[in-house]
Amino acid sequence: MKKLNIVLWDADTQKDIILKSSKFAVPGAYKLMNNFGKAISYFEKKGVLIMGSVDSHVSYESYPGTRDENLPLHCIKGTTGQLKIKSTQGDILYVSDQKYNQDALDKVIVEIKQGKRVYFEKQTQKCETNPNIEYVFKKLGIKEVYIMGVLTNVCVKYADEYFKKLGIQTYLIKNAIKGKDFPGDTEEEAIKEMIRTGTKFIFYR
Ligand SMILES: [Zn+2]
Repeated sequence: MKKLNIVLWDADTQKDIILKSSKFAVPGAYKLMNNFGKAISYFEKKGVLIMGSVDSHVSYESYPGTRDENLPLHCIKGTTGQLKIKSTQGDILYVSDQKYNQDALDKVIVEIKQGKRVYFEKQTQKCETNPNIEYVFKKLGIKEVYIMGVLTNVCVKYADEYFKKLGIQTYLIKNAIKGKDFPGDTEEEAIKEMIRTGTKFIFYR
């Protein structure tokens, strides 16, 4: 039985961000490749919906005036580095970050109900810059989201904040997240802050 109001959210487990050979890789994230895949199968077997985000850049991603002002090119649409790592690939429908009309989104929801995994493309670190997520989540009445992926203190943290704003209970999957420490912004601090603001911490087996 599908649990239509619970989601496993897989943030950005893509080759450029995970593979050891990539210049943009999160240090050590490649060691979690099996865990990422196992988390997806574990939740999918329980009937949880599988969704997530993928970076789908067309150019440099830049945040003027921040430490991410000049991020190296990564996850460029059409390159192999943009693809998901093997362990998190599957029967996926990708939703672009162009605003879809209601008809198109209702078709996406039909696909979800039929078991399709759905991933939302994004150009920035915040998944809600894909305007289609909110409609899908509200229409399905999502109540709980289990979050995995990278980076704990960037895209995972922003996704967690966004889902909380939608009134959703969030969970962080400890053995399937990986961050990177920056001065004044460490993975540990990000986790503490998420827990302080209501996120629950779980391990899956
Ligand atoms: Zn990016």
